[in-house]
Amino acid sequence: MTIRKVLIANRGEIAVRIIRAAHDLGIETVLVASEADADSGATRMADKVVVLGPAPSKASYLVPELIVHAALSTSCDAVHPGYGFLSERAILPELCDKHGLRFIGPKATTIQSLGNKVAARKIAKASAVPLVKGTSNITDKEKAKREAETIGYPVLMKAASGGGGRGMFVASDEKDIDAQFESASKEAEEAFGDGNLYLEQYIENARHVEVQIAGDGKGRAVHFGDRDCSVQRRYQKMIEEGPCSIMSDTSRESMRSAAVKLMADLNYSNLGTVEFVYDPKRDEFFFIEVNTRIQVEHPVSEQVSGVDLIKLQFALAEGNPNVLPAQNQIVIKGHAIECRINAEDPENNFFPSPGRIANWSPPQGSGIRVDSHCFSGYQVPPFYDSMIGKLIITAPDRNAAIARAIAALENFSIEGIKTNLNLLLDVLRDQCFRDNRFSTKWLENDFLNSHVRD
Ligand code: ADP
Ligand code: ADP
Ligand code: MG
Repeated sequence: MTIRKVLIANRGEIAVRIIRAAHDLGIETVLVASEADADSGATRMADKVVVLGPAPSKASYLVPELIVHAALSTSCDAVHPGYGFLSERAILPELCDKHGLRFIGPKATTIQSLGNKVAARKIAKASAVPLVKGTSNITDKEKAKREAETIGYPVLMKAASGGGGRGMFVASDEKDIDAQFESASKEAEEAFGDGNLYLEQYIENARHVEVQIAGDGKGRAVHFGDRDCSVQRRYQKMIEEGPCSIMSDTSRESMRSAAVKLMADLNYSNLGTVEFVYDPKRDEFFFIEVNTRIQVEHPVSEQVSGVDLIKLQFALAEGNPNVLPAQNQIVIKGHAIECRINAEDPENNFFPSPGRIANWSPPQGSGIRVDSHCFSGYQVPPFYDSMIGKLIITAPDRNAAIARAIAALENFSIEGIKTNLNLLLDVLRDQCFRDNRFSTKWLENDFLNSHVRD
């Protein structure tokens, strides 16, 4: 089925990104927007805008019935969910199926089964993907302490239905479990409607490495290389790069193959990412989860593979398996680094900094890509995620990419609100970052302590 008109169920930079891909393909675009998002780079580009409701996401972007109604009343034939919001909720593809709309993503049943991390671990195990030691759901503190003893401290308590780092904490001993078990469960219940927690062995000094996958829904899957997303704060990524340059070629190949096998075994359709923690000391990797959607950092893989992944999402959703390239046609070349630009104040505990952008002047030039919905005069609303854009740098190798990223950040001017631009610059100039000697805890435990005062 050819897609003629798509409804974009998202906002911000990813809405802009999807509209660009759709227009390249000659597909008409309808964008939903909350009342707070009536004027943005995305609404200015879309062919039509449907105002969904008031600013809070619970009254707009998170209501599947409103999204499907907007799609039907504007004669769309497909829905793209972007990331965040409803993108990993099976209810949206279910409703789309019911009303004859094409959902641009995996099948509802796949989203459902991989959305629970305990279930996802079982699925990964069945495909022989390496796992860290872990448990099933744990309903009380005492059981958590017994299980942690068996696994061995430190352990990581996670929300079974979690995302965005919520409901997660590291426990070094049983006192940590006593102190945090209930609040984590409550946080998970509030955020995901599922308060179930489980335990994993905590890999210390680990890196976060993930593999970008596309599948045809008929048992064939390919990868578009790996990304290292180890510069994190509160389990949220800040800088992502690809390929991961500290892995041995043997481990890299087996990690990529494990990810491909897992997704092929699942008859996975459309795009997804298999996330791993990587232990550089032992050169070992372990499965953590599958993200059943396009990710924030997908441009890293686009830049090193030369493939437009959003266009590929559209093509796969049209149902033609021949659009999936063969693995040997996907050539990974060069190095890309993405910096997430946030409206926040790193000098004041990363407090969000919404408001009017008086001046927005992004850098330009060879190897510089900026994905954003902002412009001079744009009003950053206070209701949503603080990310306002992404700077994506491409160069022949990692050192050249770092140098180019520094120059680009120095030429990026955003006035009127606080941003993390200077912090990104400091990270890129830091010797540990340049030497590739850091872990997922480095930014908050080492770097920020020496650079920023609360
Ligand atoms: P979310 O759904 O919030 O993305 P993840 O399970 O992907 O949660 O974990 C978030 C981050 O926590 C990872 O990017 C990684 O830095 C860290 N992490 C997750 N599992 C482990 C583990 N077993 N050991 C060490 N770090 C981990
Ligand atoms: P990744 O895609 O790398 O897993 P995240 O987990 O940070 O990265 O991406 C999803 C997160 O993005 C959500 O948890 C949410 O906080 C945030 N998010 C959701 N929608 C938007 C949006 N339109 N713009 C920016 N950020 C968003
Ligand atoms: Mg994750």
